[in-house]
Amino acid sequence: METLKIMNPATGEILKEISCHTEQEIKLILENGQTGFKKWAKVNAHERSRLLKDWARKIQEHKAELAEIITKENGKPLSEAVGEINYATSYIDWYAEEAVRIYGRTIPASSETKRIVVSRQPIGMVAAITPWNFPAAMMTRKAAPALAAGCSFVVKPAEETPLTTMRLIELAHEVGIPTDVIQYVNGQGPVVGKLFTDSEFIRKITFTGSTPVGKVLMKNSAETVKHLTMELGGHAPLIIVEDADLDYAVSQTIISKFRNAGQTCVCANRILVDENVIEAFSEKLTAAVNKLTVGNGMDTNVDIGPIINEKGFNKIVAQVEDAVAKGAEVLTGNKYDVNKEQSSFFVYPTVLKNIDVSMAIMQEETFGPIAPIISFKTIEEAVEIANSTPYGLAAYFFTNDYRVGMYLHDHLDFGIIGWNDGAPSAAHSPFGGMKESGLGREGGIEGIEPYLETKYLSIGNLV
Ligand code: ADP
Repeated sequence: METLKIMNPATGEILKEISCHTEQEIKLILENGQTGFKKWAKVNAHERSRLLKDWARKIQEHKAELAEIITKENGKPLSEAVGEINYATSYIDWYAEEAVRIYGRTIPASSETKRIVVSRQPIGMVAAITPWNFPAAMMTRKAAPALAAGCSFVVKPAEETPLTTMRLIELAHEVGIPTDVIQYVNGQGPVVGKLFTDSEFIRKITFTGSTPVGKVLMKNSAETVKHLTMELGGHAPLIIVEDADLDYAVSQTIISKFRNAGQTCVCANRILVDENVIEAFSEKLTAAVNKLTVGNGMDTNVDIGPIINEKGFNKIVAQVEDAVAKGAEVLTGNKYDVNKEQSSFFVYPTVLKNIDVSMAIMQEETFGPIAPIISFKTIEEAVEIANSTPYGLAAYFFTNDYRVGMYLHDHLDFGIIGWNDGAPSAAHSPFGGMKESGLGREGGIEGIEPYLETKYLSIGNLV
């Protein structure tokens, strides 16, 4: 039987070995999900809302336990894991409220004998595929609106971090959300992904992960014309305008760049600084980065945990080596703590200067704690560099000049913009990307729409 060994990336300890579901088992899970959907769609919205609120409360009661699971399987510092549980819960709270606000409408007809009614209904069974970087929040961000809308839900968590998802779903069952309404499947991405896309029962795929995998899912979903939400890669620019409050901008850059050891799709990936303040900004950023501590996320006062695996580590090192070979100056970092036998890979936070657009670090998502700084002369040039990527997820800029701020807002081709804000994500706001960063939005009132189908009724021959 195929198994997944779940490993603590800080220590190499095997936390648990779990069996992958077989094809037969997955097919049964999907049949159950279809039965669950038929029941759940009929449960009234107030009851669905109540059950979601109970789930949120239960998660909060188990916060310490869940945070420890996250830190052990993902590596992020415990304080960040607690923050993730709160963030994950906020999606359930938000969509518990939205469940009772799924409104239809009436349209004035063009004939006296007609009435037109538009109603919303759940789309059907939803399958989610989630990544390892936010094992709790990426799941609840999808499960909460699906369940609120009346859809049943099945999720395949990342092979590296399934334990958080499994526990969250157990808690959902404990509060009375039916076992066939929310389920998980464990297995290899490509295998489970194909069973999901081939399934006639699944009406929607919601995915957070890399752009190449998103493209495969989109192609494979064409056969059965499934609805899709895709949260894919990012390559976020962070722009420091000449007038910016540099101390504040540095503190926000630290939050944006180094959270989760730089392993988030909205991490600042390219730091663009006006040439007149680049020396001052680089100095302040380097000083702040030098205060960050690296280590096991379970230890108190650790800011930067391990990189998730060797593949991720190798990509980071290759980008730094490429940049240095092409003339980048290392202001701090470029230091590693590796134990191959126990598969632990730590990267010290690194600041690079003298960056130019020919370097790989300016072309590809890094997913690591590396801050490359490139200078610009004009705002137009900053926008051109920022937009010269197939990605369009998040962008940040720092300025107190409202004209420059609005210009940047209007010209940056990104779905999420932080203006003097390094952490814009919130359950009540629409999160999602343009271009090859994805399709659709999660969070906010927009986030429940993709789980709803519109049904239009035209009644004729009235008197
Ligand atoms: P990363 O490289 O950061 O792990 P991936 O996009 O490969 O990003 O992984 C995100 C999620 O997608 C994981 O749950 C993984 O198992 C899943 N996955 C990987 N390959 C496929 C695939 N071909 N089809 C469906 N899911 C996949």
